[in-house]
Amino acid sequence: MIDHSLFENTDTAFILKSDSELERAYFLFKMISSQPLVRIGTAATNFALKAKLPVEGLIRSTVFDHFCGGVSEDDCLSVIDNLFTEKVSSVLDYSVEGKETKDQFDNALKKILKIIRFCDKKEAMPIVVFKPTGFGRFHLFQKKTKGVDFTPDEQEEWDRIVGRFDAVCKLAKEKDVEVLIDGEESWMQTAADDLVEEMMRRYNKEVPIVYNTLQAYRSNRLDYLKQLHIRAKKIGFKVGMKIVRGAYMEKERKRAEEKGYASPICENKKATDDNFNATLSYILENLKDISIFIGTHNEDSCYLAMELMEKYKITKQDNNVWFGQLYGMSDHISFNLAASGYNVAKYIPFGPVKDVMPYLIRRAEENTSVAGQTNRELALLKTEKKRRKL
Ligand SMILES: Cc1cc2nc3c(=O)[nH]c(=O)nc-3n(C[C@H](O)[C@H](O)[C@H](O)COP(=O)(O)OP(=O)(O)OC[C@H]3O[C@@H](n4cnc5c(N)ncnc54)[C@H](O)[C@@H]3O)c2cc1C
Repeated sequence: MIDHSLFENTDTAFILKSDSELERAYFLFKMISSQPLVRIGTAATNFALKAKLPVEGLIRSTVFDHFCGGVSEDDCLSVIDNLFTEKVSSVLDYSVEGKETKDQFDNALKKILKIIRFCDKKEAMPIVVFKPTGFGRFHLFQKKTKGVDFTPDEQEEWDRIVGRFDAVCKLAKEKDVEVLIDGEESWMQTAADDLVEEMMRRYNKEVPIVYNTLQAYRSNRLDYLKQLHIRAKKIGFKVGMKIVRGAYMEKERKRAEEKGYASPICENKKATDDNFNATLSYILENLKDISIFIGTHNEDSCYLAMELMEKYKITKQDNNVWFGQLYGMSDHISFNLAASGYNVAKYIPFGPVKDVMPYLIRRAEENTSVAGQTNRELALLKTEKKRRKL
């Protein structure tokens, strides 16, 4: 039987937080819970960074240090070691977004390869992650998704993207490190899906090294997974799948409306939840063929995963099932799951402050719009403050 009060344990949830860190987290989520404040704060921060005003220190000591591991991978080491004392692993996430040049993509590749070599020596880092558009221009993924032919120059550029994907997956295979490849906007995702599948064919022959991402807020993604499963069995490779609900809902809906096509997003939250849970069930029932990384802060989905693991007699330590949350969020899930013996990893974003801003803004907006989640964080922090008599 699964204990449905597991995530209420704030003692375990905040075991690594000093009193002052607890106070800072409370203050931060209080600020984030105010929509006008987030809107003004975001605009002011963007302006200040563009105008080169000295605001980095302020950003670092507030949102940045709460949601990010540091500016460089070395900065993150103490965070990684600290988390691992409580059996929580780390996935270093080089969160620099919106880059457009060959040098920037090559630089991102170098970073990820360095992280894989880093992982090789560290038990606390069994997994790496990258974004498809971290290795190539969004425009190319979009064009390929649409089925439009490349110019010769674009074809060369695309071949370089394939080369970057391959270099990461190949080294990961050599070093036995799993690679998660993030999901992005639907109008570029088919090209990414095809490329990731190609990597699975090359490197997932015996064990799953390469993982694609399934965003459950898209109505038809379980069908995609079932088709992929059929191909994997026929050809003979393992499927790796990170499942999430999806981070670009507003952008997806807005574009569909502007361009006059049917939105690919589920019509309401319940439909997304049902999709997520159905995908979770499908994978856990087929774990011999498909491995899963469950990226969620949703408590019900985590309880469901635990129940299904019990039903299908999957051990907590089975390396084919991982739970994941973002650094700075839902510690009550991560630390309580890890203390109970499940495989848990935190995504630890890092990078120069100004480059990580889009990531931080998404987190602030997500926490503002998903009011329930912020309120939950605040309630748990309050309980812990009270328990510590702060
Ligand atoms: C480890 C990890 C990795 C992630 N990687 C990715 C990634 O690669 N790509 C990506 O896109 N996101 C990624 N995310 C973010 C994720 O997609 C969600 O935005 C976030 O986790 C919130 O969803 P939830 O399951 O935690 O919680 P919940 O709070 O239960 O769900 C919120 C989500 O439900 C959906 N939703 C909300 N309202 C509605 C509505 N009215 N109609 C339909 N759907 C609705 C949206 O997707 C929203 O984000 C990742 C998250 C984690 C924890």
